[in-house]
Amino acid sequence: MHQKQASIYQEFGLSFDYFGRTSSLQNHELTKHFFERLAANGYIEERPIRQVYSLKDERFLPDRYVIGACPKCGYEAARGDQCENCTSVLDPVDLLAPRSAVSGSTELEVRTTKHLFFRLDALANEVRTWVESHEKWSRLTRSIAMKWLNEGLNERCITRDLQWGVSVPRDGFEEKVFYVWFDAPIGYVGATKEYSDQAPDSRDWKDWWLNASDVTYTQFMAKDNVPFHTVFFPAMILGTREPWTMATQIKSFNWLTYYGGKFSTSQKRGIFLDDALELFDADYWRYFLLANSPETDDASFTWELFATMLNKDLVGNFGNFVNRTLKLTVAQFGDRVPDGGSPSELEEKLKEDCQRVLAAYRHQFVNLEFRKVIQALRELWSLGNVYLDRRAPWNLVKTNRTEAAMVLRTAINLIKCFAIAAEPIIPFSSARVFDALNLAAGERREWLKDEFDLYSYQPGRQFTVPEPLFRRIEKVEMEELQLRFSGR
Ligand SMILES: [Zn+2]
Repeated sequence: MHQKQASIYQEFGLSFDYFGRTSSLQNHELTKHFFERLAANGYIEERPIRQVYSLKDERFLPDRYVIGACPKCGYEAARGDQCENCTSVLDPVDLLAPRSAVSGSTELEVRTTKHLFFRLDALANEVRTWVESHEKWSRLTRSIAMKWLNEGLNERCITRDLQWGVSVPRDGFEEKVFYVWFDAPIGYVGATKEYSDQAPDSRDWKDWWLNASDVTYTQFMAKDNVPFHTVFFPAMILGTREPWTMATQIKSFNWLTYYGGKFSTSQKRGIFLDDALELFDADYWRYFLLANSPETDDASFTWELFATMLNKDLVGNFGNFVNRTLKLTVAQFGDRVPDGGSPSELEEKLKEDCQRVLAAYRHQFVNLEFRKVIQALRELWSLGNVYLDRRAPWNLVKTNRTEAAMVLRTAINLIKCFAIAAEPIIPFSSARVFDALNLAAGERREWLKDEFDLYSYQPGRQFTVPEPLFRRIEKVEMEELQLRFSGR
């Protein structure tokens, strides 16, 4: 699964300094360290609880390993913690005709067993103070954290009767492992340590994680994970009484829905990663998902919106600008950037507009406001098309070739600027533009300088006209997709 995940991320153009895993030796060791610190500080308690035991399997069954009929809706394969069909929260003993998920055996009985509990309640005030000190978190992140804190925190069981996981360093717990939400967040530290252990002379994981005053730490997640990152994990850190780095910013998202409902693998409703890349290049998905990020509310995926937005922004705005500029230049002046003399006030104004929009674009990135990031990018691209339409070099070339050449030189420079700006959003398409312009590695990040240079791509540079960067999604195709993924 680790390999599978890594390759999906790679295909979508996500890059990692290091893609670690929670099953690493480093994470096992760090998890034990956290546990021992919490135990030494009095935040771990051992308690007996009553739990389902399978005689055939000779083991205790975690809630999810007990299967039976849901007492609420009758669904036959409900799990002991929750019914997948009607979403009722259940207790394993509620299930009708319960059986073991391991062997299918119905020889079950309720026995007493010991588990470890984390005293979340004893750290509630400290967690609240920490949450309240982060006024810049989004409303979604803060409201979920405060809801949990206001409802009151209880001790939480941190051990499970499973074979797979991080083992518990305590006598009598040989058959148990830590609850996944105990060791998973420690995996952030563990992965950094894996990374640093590969080159211990050049980096030290502690520079990021211990006594690190100059680290800005941003976490991204869907809203169901917010309680673990605003309450549970911070409490674990605070309870160690050690100076671990805690999150500076927590960016959370609402749900992406499929036509207002749930995506469902079992009902084949919605589009999933395996099909997504076979249908459209990664850039289409990246662009659409960022433009429609469920930031303030849930967002709905529809094929109509997908087709409309991509046709308009990628095909009509960016792709069209690139192609019509380069094609016209080749037809009129050949495949080298023409010179054409000095720019006018119009170009000076264009430069100022680009600078203003680029500043807004950067600002929205820093603020992690992804819908607004895309709005700014769209506005930037539009500046190019508005400029080209106003200057109409296809007409100008008949009356003033020198000025037409200058206009096309300006437009080609805009292409470079647009592709560099768009790279974090649509990296594969930007790379194709970089290749068409024969940009050197160092040229591909020029826009990050404070002062925007509109004419850095010099006359005489050779380029090629790329194949259209994006393809139009026609109504017929859109309707086919709608039908294919409707789950009907
Ligand atoms: Zn049910």
